[in-house]
Amino acid sequence: MSDCIFCKMIDGVIKADIVLETDSVLAFRDINPWAPTHVLIIPKRHIPTMNDLGPDDTKLMGDLSLAARKVAEREGVSKNFRTAINCGRDGGQEVFHLHMHLLGWPS
Ligand code: 5GP
Ligand code: ZN
Repeated sequence: MSDCIFCKMIDGVIKADIVLETDSVLAFRDINPWAPTHVLIIPKRHIPTMNDLGPDDTKLMGDLSLAARKVAEREGVSKNFRTAINCGRDGGQEVFHLHMHLLGWPS
């Protein structure tokens, strides 16, 4: 998607502070952190919201979760973290490229 800010990060057009990259997902630091560790984990394929997931996306959603756990371990917050996916404007979603927030606090 040419006008999607997160797709531009995947393409390297917009710089991101990347903490993990796999074949299917990219993880980078949130520009406006709400916690000592705040990383966004996104699928490399443009999917606007959770409502756009299909039956073939079950592995992809697992990849997001495993990436979140790996980042939490690397960041030293694996004992105290939260993940969240906002869906829809009233659900708090501002960027319409599916993303999982990883919020973590050191123990
Ligand atoms: P949402 O509200 O859609 O669940 O979360 C969007 C997140 O993207 C917000 O926490 C916001 O700070 C982050 N964000 C928005 N624009 C940028 C950007 O240009 N770079 C980075 N790294 N994060 C961004
Ligand atoms: Zn996108």
